[in-house]
Amino acid sequence: MTQSFHPPVRTLMGPGPSDVNPRILEAMSRPTIGHLDPMFVQMMDEMKGLLRYAFQTDYDLAMPVSAPGSAGMETCFVNLVEPGDKVIVCQNGVFGGRMKENVERCGATPVMVEDEWGRAVDVHKVEDALKANPDAKILAFVHAETSTGAMSDAKALAELARRHDCLTIVDTVTSLGGCELKVGEWGLDAVYSGTQKCLSCVPGLSPVTFSERALEVVKNRRHKVQSWFLDLNLVLGYWGSGGKRAYHHTAPVNTLYALHEALVLLQEEGIENAWTRHRKHHEALKAGFEAMGLNFVVPEGERLPQLNAVTIPEGVEDAAVRTRLLTEYNLEIGAGLGALAGKVWRVGLMGFACNRTNVLTCLGAMDAVLSDMGAKIDAGRAVEAAMACYRGQD
Ligand SMILES: *Cc1c(COP(=O)(O)O)cnc(C)c1O
Repeated sequence: MTQSFHPPVRTLMGPGPSDVNPRILEAMSRPTIGHLDPMFVQMMDEMKGLLRYAFQTDYDLAMPVSAPGSAGMETCFVNLVEPGDKVIVCQNGVFGGRMKENVERCGATPVMVEDEWGRAVDVHKVEDALKANPDAKILAFVHAETSTGAMSDAKALAELARRHDCLTIVDTVTSLGGCELKVGEWGLDAVYSGTQKCLSCVPGLSPVTFSERALEVVKNRRHKVQSWFLDLNLVLGYWGSGGKRAYHHTAPVNTLYALHEALVLLQEEGIENAWTRHRKHHEALKAGFEAMGLNFVVPEGERLPQLNAVTIPEGVEDAAVRTRLLTEYNLEIGAGLGALAGKVWRVGLMGFACNRTNVLTCLGAMDAVLSDMGAKIDAGRAVEAAMACYRGQD
């Protein structure tokens, strides 16, 4: 007979999922109730308020799509983009490429603004593209590019878009909860995120928020949204405010308890404190990597604190190192994606996983494994460098 599945306890320091706070797992195991139960509906209303806090916005539409981050991405594109539209898409890593794919599948034309993998989106190039394409309807970009660890200037990009009468679609899957993100103040229009990165919740939901401006566009479409499941005009019959809650699909009840708890945790900590915490532990991890002689992919000033991509030292076998970290230390770090596959490691410091113990454990483990495999690193220094950094912060 097949036995129950009992996963090992790992430390998750890759590109997501990140370590889940036990309070969230406990919340998830509470009794399942109906998704139209008055108590559940009350929880949904609280959730919308908590999401507005996390996104730092007062937009009326703030809700979780019942599927992972990729479904949030698709929700933004299929609802805003119509056949024949022109969309400026910034690509500086894997996820910009998926945006392009989304635009094409909506029957629209993507205008690509490409930047080197590992760099932020170049605001000047975007301005040129907006000038050259006055008929563009939307500017789409990734705030925190998880494939490289680069952070782009969402505020400046949104300002530019507004000046050129464009809406923005912004990927905040990795930025939400991990670094400064002010959806309302920056005037972002259609924003999607994920639960398993810096919110440290279980995977499977995608918080989204839409500005009034963006919602107007959705309501005045010429064509029906091609996806029935993601059509906001229908989904809002369940999640929207004011109306009666109508059945659209069965909400993932217990996963929503988990997100509610994750957002309560964020509120308890205070969002600015969460941003500061990510910055602080990133500084210590950086001190350790630099002492070890590992180089960051992204130039200083464009780096995400929550996703640290470092170049794999020459002669070291990527997969062998990651396997040893997993089997000997129960530690997961991320491999390179796309153009960076085999060239970099991506070390996440996301949400609950972003703490001193993990920073020191990861540096100690990588130092030991790399030394043992004969890699050319400055061995035995990383942990002390991180501790010195922490001493300086106190
Ligand atoms: C993880 C991620 C996604 C996709 O989220 P899933 O939950 O894996 O579907 C999209 N964009 C970025 C920037 C991500 O890091």
